[in-house]
Amino acid sequence: MLMSANGADLVRAFVYVILGGGVAAGYAALEFTRKGVSPGELCIISEEPVAPYERPALSKGFLLPESPARLPSFHTCVGANEERLTPKWYKEHGIELVLGTRVKSVDVRRKKLLTATGETISYKILLIATGARALKLEEFGVDGSEAENVCYLRDLADANGLVNVMQSCSSGNAVVIGGGYIGMECAASLAINKINVTLVFPEVHCICLSKSYSFFDEAVARLFTPKIASYYEEYYQSKGVKFVKGTVLTSFEFDSSGKVMAVNLRDGSQLPADLVVVGIGIRPNTSLFEGQLTLEKGGIKVNGKMQTSNDSVYAVGDVAAFPVKLFGETRRLEHVDSARKSAKHAVAAIMEPKKSGEFDYLPFFYSRVFGLSWQFYGDNVGEAVHFGDYSSGTFGAYWISKGHLVGSFLEGGTKEEYEAIAKATSLKPPVEDLAELGQQGLNFALTI
Ligand code: FAD
Ligand code: NDP
Repeated sequence: MLMSANGADLVRAFVYVILGGGVAAGYAALEFTRKGVSPGELCIISEEPVAPYERPALSKGFLLPESPARLPSFHTCVGANEERLTPKWYKEHGIELVLGTRVKSVDVRRKKLLTATGETISYKILLIATGARALKLEEFGVDGSEAENVCYLRDLADANGLVNVMQSCSSGNAVVIGGGYIGMECAASLAINKINVTLVFPEVHCICLSKSYSFFDEAVARLFTPKIASYYEEYYQSKGVKFVKGTVLTSFEFDSSGKVMAVNLRDGSQLPADLVVVGIGIRPNTSLFEGQLTLEKGGIKVNGKMQTSNDSVYAVGDVAAFPVKLFGETRRLEHVDSARKSAKHAVAAIMEPKKSGEFDYLPFFYSRVFGLSWQFYGDNVGEAVHFGDYSSGTFGAYWISKGHLVGSFLEGGTKEEYEAIAKATSLKPPVEDLAELGQQGLNFALTI
């Protein structure tokens, strides 16, 4: 819809605008059509040049040496066994995709966005789905991110870059910086590509308790217990991945063309590198709204309807700090299931405000690497009770806080077993005897 405002500026006006074109945007678009949005009413503005896609594919199927996943196969919403929303789908539904376009400012009082191409877009309702950006080494005082063989992994352009470097260094050496989700998934994918991988991180274990607690105010207890982490580390080692723990990168060695040849670590050692992958955490993209909306926990604070401190503005996905009923507190989650479900909930709240209640979300994270696959539901606070046979490949842990089950982790489960731990966690049953719980193991969840 083109309108002329005061005969001068051309302003495009939409009823609904989604700012950001990632996972949450795709799931929101599908929900808008289900709730009866009319052609021409909805617009998605994204810095990325492609329609929304399933970001998790970038560290998994996209990096496979044989038959790698490529667009359009993983456009949203295939990740939740829903329709695949190709650019044609958006066209058929009259949804305007403004791609390859960064929004450089937003005026929430005037309900207007200004794009980097100089266009003004107005809205009645804005859905913020700007996700997050990868933290750069420079933010930790290390220079060299611009070298062509130093890779980050947040979007499709990064993934294409990583594939190019990977293909140019077959059988070479990769150093992966960061023992979080990106580090672990990329290390596995690189090993599958027959690259020699060394994973470097500051903690004692991967995806384990954070040493620094530096990013935000509250302590960050990462998911794995030392016992769970040790299982994955041993598995990775059996696939040839090496671990260098308790230290961080301090600088790079470059060749005459500016490519990284080696990384220097704080412990004084040096590792040869044909490829470096950096996964040292993210920062939510909130900067457009600082001073305009209430922020909390590094994200944009929303209520149970995903509505921000401005009635006409909603926020979803990685950028939203929302009340998690189960925990009785506000959290910001950086996982795909929460992006999908918060987007769906926000759209229901926008389109059917009287019918929609408060977002009642059970946090769910998962990962798949090599032949492994785990799922986690709830919260990893309190005491961890391990169960199962860690040598059989099917094992897990429950977290008990204040006498109740609050979190469940399972590796190698069946569909029914994953459903059982999800249900058990959502019910928060009382647990009196931790030793007995450990003995019952999966049966505890299966018989609830
Ligand atoms: P995003 O998907 O990041 O989308 C944000 C969008 O906003 C992007 O398109 C961005 O370009 C756009 N944008 C930002 N600012 C602007 C602006 N100013 N103007 C225009 N556009 C803008 N989670 C899991 O649970 N399991 C997994 O296995 C898993 N794997 C992952 C693998 C990788 C490689 C990555 C990077 C993440 C993974 N995640 C996984 C996390 C999951 O992908 C995120 O939680 C999810 O993508 C968040 O969705 P979102 O829509 O909030 O943000
Ligand atoms: P994470 O926060 O998971 O992990 C970051 C890791 O980098 C930690 O081990 C951290 O250690 C370490 N680190 C921090 N600073 C440095 C430094 N200067 N040098 C070396 N190591 C450092 O972030 P990721 O980058 O791995 O993941 C990015 C996002 O993608 C997250 O939102 C994640 O949830 C998402 N993702 C999710 C997946 C899933 O759910 N399966 C898969 C892939 C990505 P410390 O804790 O001590 O600071």
